[in-house]
Amino acid sequence: MTKIIGIDLGTTNSLISYMDGNRPRVIPNAKGQVIVPSIVSFLETGYVVGDLAKEQLIKNTARTVYSIKRFMGLALQDLRHELRYFPYTLAEQKGIVTVQIGSTEFTPSEISSMILKELKKSAEDFFGEPITQAVITVPAYFNDAQRQATKDAGRIAGLHVTRIVNEPTAASLAYGLQNKQQGLVAVYDLGGGTFDISILKLREGIFEVLATNGNTHLGGDDFDRKIVQVMAKDIQDQFDLDVTKYIVLIQSMRVAAEAAKCHLTSNETTSISLPLPEGKGTYTRDLHRSEFEVLIKALVMDTVVRCQFALSDAGISASEIDDVVLVGGATRTPLVQQMVEKTFKRIPHTDLNPDEVVALGAAVQGGILAGEVQDMLLLDITPLSLGIEGLGGTVNSLIRRNTTIPTQAKEVYTTSTDNQTAVVIHVLQGERELSRDNRSLAQFHLPLPPAPAGFPRIEVNFIIDANGILNVAARDIQTGQSKAIEVKPSYGLTEEAIDEMIQDSIKFSEADIAERLTIEARNEMDALETSTVKILTEEKGVLEEGERNQIEQALKNLREARDESDYRILRKSNNELNNATKHLAEIAMDHQLKAALENKTITEIVS
Ligand code: AMP
Repeated sequence: MTKIIGIDLGTTNSLISYMDGNRPRVIPNAKGQVIVPSIVSFLETGYVVGDLAKEQLIKNTARTVYSIKRFMGLALQDLRHELRYFPYTLAEQKGIVTVQIGSTEFTPSEISSMILKELKKSAEDFFGEPITQAVITVPAYFNDAQRQATKDAGRIAGLHVTRIVNEPTAASLAYGLQNKQQGLVAVYDLGGGTFDISILKLREGIFEVLATNGNTHLGGDDFDRKIVQVMAKDIQDQFDLDVTKYIVLIQSMRVAAEAAKCHLTSNETTSISLPLPEGKGTYTRDLHRSEFEVLIKALVMDTVVRCQFALSDAGISASEIDDVVLVGGATRTPLVQQMVEKTFKRIPHTDLNPDEVVALGAAVQGGILAGEVQDMLLLDITPLSLGIEGLGGTVNSLIRRNTTIPTQAKEVYTTSTDNQTAVVIHVLQGERELSRDNRSLAQFHLPLPPAPAGFPRIEVNFIIDANGILNVAARDIQTGQSKAIEVKPSYGLTEEAIDEMIQDSIKFSEADIAERLTIEARNEMDALETSTVKILTEEKGVLEEGERNQIEQALKNLREARDESDYRILRKSNNELNNATKHLAEIAMDHQLKAALENKTITEIVS
């Protein structure tokens, strides 16, 4: 049977795992280490990955790439707020952000594939056989582009990615929570640099993501920074030394701060000792856990507030949570565990190593797919609505935000002008009423044979597969001609951007709806004007003069009102013309019906 291994492709660290019978286990590399830093460094002789790359962080800064996961599936413009965090050069190719090393540009998928290759090699050495299939985990909020970029990374590394799984789902699988059949699970994930909270609903062994929240720039490294700030102040006061002038000293302070933090996890007190430059001697200090907790309290509170947001988005109260799962190295901090317990009123699961729990769950999913573990479905949600652009720049949503995937939606559309030779299918993502305020994911043309407006029938089909990849297909029902696209968006989203889009949709909802109603009223106005002019020229004297004058006056009023921005005024003119042409429309309909009955083509006319 083919082995399907599990991979946690993390922002800071990555791990690979397998099923040993019914138990998931992480796979060590040749040096016996299971954690591979997600870092790639480019040397004169080629590239190195993991610990070897980490050693290059200071001496080879511009050619050492870390946190590549933050760029997956994104464009440069999505990263404008992030650029200050990265010392290496970022460029862009065809709307995809790239990392520039010398004269070569690498996509995030390519860099990630180097990390995956390293993990794959460890597994192949471990098993003594080729490994070709993997399950890779991604954050629950990753959009189609980010998931697709992760799949691409696997493909480049020579791995068939059988499933992309959400990290919180994987963590729950590692604890075997699927066997409980039902319940509500909170997965609290605090790593080195990011925080994620996910609320999952387990029903008949199936996980569904109800809500997610987080902070893409908050983690255990910020705890270290708080200690570094205290040290810097001490050193300034006691030794009159401005540490900001010494890059290597700051780096040593960070290492000392992290060691102190980790020591305080299992001890009430720790001591810090650091040699200083310029013959200034050695800085020493004791740090008590209670002092450290005062320093980090606000940071931990930030995560608690986000947990409350997620609970409220999921529409549940904290006391309804059945299980709390901790993920990420920083959840070892006692204050974090206490505050999580207080928030969810549950003692969190801590039996598994929080660094390994996602990778272990990925192995469980691999085992399920390979048939080693009893089969079960894993459901996720779409973080934002998906749809296409309609007439006048409005949005027709096909799949609403928070829909469980895999999912499918179908709509039939038509044309708005006579003899249109193509329709544009413009795929959009977002919550706003107008296409210009949403994210453009893809665009393609479906050719049409010339026909009167409203006559063609174009069926648009959206399918999101279990990996969250979106397929859009458009078909001209009459000719059978079709076109499809697998959405590999040229740019993606960050969690903050998702938040911002949802907040904006609430903030602007009133103005957006008014504008949408205005556009729709104007679309109706244009259609009315065209049909009225047509009937007036073709009506062959059935109208009395008074009636004709009345219609012409209403038509004139309608044309004058066209530029009004208040949809109520537009609607009033539409109604006026509709009322004036009622009789005429009845006559026209009678004629059509009569002709149709004679020609026996009634279905064509009314369908
Ligand atoms: P991750 O990104 O999940 O690997 O988490 C890394 C973070 O966990 C870093 O900030 C580490 O300093 C932190 N961490 C690791 N071990 C401990 C520990 N024993 N106590 C507190 N924090 C820890």
